[in-house]
Amino acid sequence: MAKRDYYEVLGVERGASADEIKSAYRRLAKKYHPDLNPGDKKAEEAFKEVGEAYEVLSDDQRRARYDQFGFEDPASGGAGGYGGGFEGGFGDIFETIFGSGGFGGFGGFGGGSQRQSNGPVPGDDIRYNLTLTFEEAVFGCKKEITVTRNENCDTCSGTGAKPGTSPKTCDTCHGTGTVTRVQQTMLGSMRTSAPCSKCGGTGKIISDPCGKCGGKGTVRRQRTITVTVPAGIDNGQALTLRGEGEPGRRGGQAGDLYVAVNVRPHRKFKRDGVNLYSDMNISFAQAALGNELSIETLKEPVKETIPEGTQTGTTIRVRGQGVPILRSPSQRGDLFVTLTVDVPKHLNEKQRMALRLFDEAMGGNASGVQKGDSFRKNVKDFFEKFKD
Ligand SMILES: [Zn+2]
Ligand SMILES: [Zn+2]
Repeated sequence: MAKRDYYEVLGVERGASADEIKSAYRRLAKKYHPDLNPGDKKAEEAFKEVGEAYEVLSDDQRRARYDQFGFEDPASGGAGGYGGGFEGGFGDIFETIFGSGGFGGFGGFGGGSQRQSNGPVPGDDIRYNLTLTFEEAVFGCKKEITVTRNENCDTCSGTGAKPGTSPKTCDTCHGTGTVTRVQQTMLGSMRTSAPCSKCGGTGKIISDPCGKCGGKGTVRRQRTITVTVPAGIDNGQALTLRGEGEPGRRGGQAGDLYVAVNVRPHRKFKRDGVNLYSDMNISFAQAALGNELSIETLKEPVKETIPEGTQTGTTIRVRGQGVPILRSPSQRGDLFVTLTVDVPKHLNEKQRMALRLFDEAMGGNASGVQKGDSFRKNVKDFFEKFKD
C-alpha cells in the first residue's frame, strides 16, 4: 500500500503550526490507541501511521526535508526510511504527550479512575435515600440517619501500624506504590504502570499491623448523623454533607454524604414547585349565593369568600399557603383550590319541592306537570304543612 502524505494522515494543512500538528496528533492517537481498540488491526495500523507522521512533522528539520523531498529524501535511504527510526522511539513520544506516568496515566481517557498510586486519594461519596412525609418536606425537619462507613482507626491513627511501630518503605516499588514495566511490542517499546502488588500500591509495608484494624488503618463503623432538612425541599433533590463520606487515604479529603430525598404523596394536596393544589366541593346554594368557605391547608383552615354565581371549575388562590421557598423560608408559594359544585343526590320531598319552586321562579319547567297559579298554591300548601 502506498504511503499517505503525512499532512493528510494528520488531517492538517501543509502550513499548519506546530500546535495544530500536535493537537491533531493527540486527537488521532487517542482515537486509534490500541488500548481503546483492542484487537482492531486497522486501528493499530492507523495508530502507527499517525505516530510516524507526527514524528516527522514535529521535528522542524525533518519536516523541512519532507516538504522538499517527500518520501524520496535522498538522505533517508529511500521511501519508508522514516519508519525505521520511528519504531524504537515510540515509547518516548507517548511519554512526552501523555505525561511521565506512561500508559499508567492513560486510563484517564476512558473514564478510568487510575490515579498516581502513592499520592493522596480522596474518599468515596456515600449515598443515602431518605423518605420524608409531604409535611416534613414542606416545613423542614431534623432526621437522624444511620450510615455505615469506614473511619480512621483511632488505635493506630489511621497508619495501620501497631502503636509504637511505623510502616517501612516498600523495597519493590521504593515507596512509589507503582511498578513500571517496559515491554517490547510491534509498536516499539511500551511502558505499563501497575500498582505494586507487594504493598498493594501504598508504598509502605506494615510488618507489625495494628490489632484493631488489622493494618488497614480504617474500621467499619455505624454512625448516626443528624440531617437538617430545610423547608421547601422537593422530591428528587439531594442534600450534600461535605466530608461525611468515606475517609480519604494518604491525606486525601474525605468524600461527601449525599442524602437523596424521596417525598411521599399527600392524600389531599399536590405540589408543583412552591405551589400546592387541592380540590373542594361546594353546594349549589353556596355557588349561587356566594359564601365564606373554610379552606383546608397544611396547617390551620383559612377563610376565603367566594362571590355569588361562582361556577364549577373555578380556581381560587390562597396566598402564602403554599410551600416555603428553599433557603428563603419566610416567602411561600400559594395554594390553588379548584371548586366543584355538587349536584345533590337523593333529595327528600321538601328539597324536591324547594327546587321545583326555584325552577319555576327561574321560568323553567322541571316539575313537568304543574304550572302557574295552581302550582304555586300547591307549593304554598306544602310548606304550610311543614310549619306545623
Ligand atoms: Zn488501626
Ligand atoms: Zn510496593
